[in-house]
Amino acid sequence: MAGEEIISEQLPQEPSSARSDDADVEVEREPGAPAPAELDPETRARRDAALRKVRKFGDPVLRASALSVERFDATLQQEIDRMGELMHDALGVGLAATQLGILHRVLVYRAYPDDPLVALVNPALEWTSEELEVAEEGCLSLPGVHVDVERPLRVRVRAQDEGGKELEVEAEGLRARVIQHELDHLDGVLILDRISREARKQAMRAMREAAEGAPHAGEQAAAPDPTETDARADADAA
Ligand code: ZN
Repeated sequence: MAGEEIISEQLPQEPSSARSDDADVEVEREPGAPAPAELDPETRARRDAALRKVRKFGDPVLRASALSVERFDATLQQEIDRMGELMHDALGVGLAATQLGILHRVLVYRAYPDDPLVALVNPALEWTSEELEVAEEGCLSLPGVHVDVERPLRVRVRAQDEGGKELEVEAEGLRARVIQHELDHLDGVLILDRISREARKQAMRAMREAAEGAPHAGEQAAAPDPTETDARADADAA
């Protein structure tokens, strides 16, 4: 553990046009990534295989709170490497350890293809802007769901890297959104919890339809039980 060295990662500003309310941002899919139907067979097969390893809605682990990482060892490094690979193969922009059934406070993200892959261990929100932004999000654990979610536009997060060194990350726009989405996962919170009851009903419908249509084998979870459609009740029970 390398003490108090702080790396401030100042991320470049994005043009405001990239964050308009109708921006088609799918948080766990790379912006501009081709729709699954347009993928070449190999990429699609890799994506389907990766998605099969991601826990889907209804799995109780998605409602669990992850535990702080205390050991920065080879096992942790392997875990992080695997998360990065799966996220990449799934064409995602972020992934939390809980989505793989691992109850560790670890997340990885890469909001834009040219960004480096960042792993945050034991991340904690230190500051959020009062300015909020609404943008569409999807989630690898919620097939077929795309909902508008309001979140702070900018965040500052304190975390550790895979070696235990302290980091401070400042982010805005899509990067800040992805970080917040993945942080939520570490506390058992899903985007369904951040939208209105009406929007949640629609999202559950979309998830059922995606499961029934199941155009790509492996991508979809079993159709959620309609009695589980109230994500709040689900959260309260967790
Ligand atoms: Zn997610």
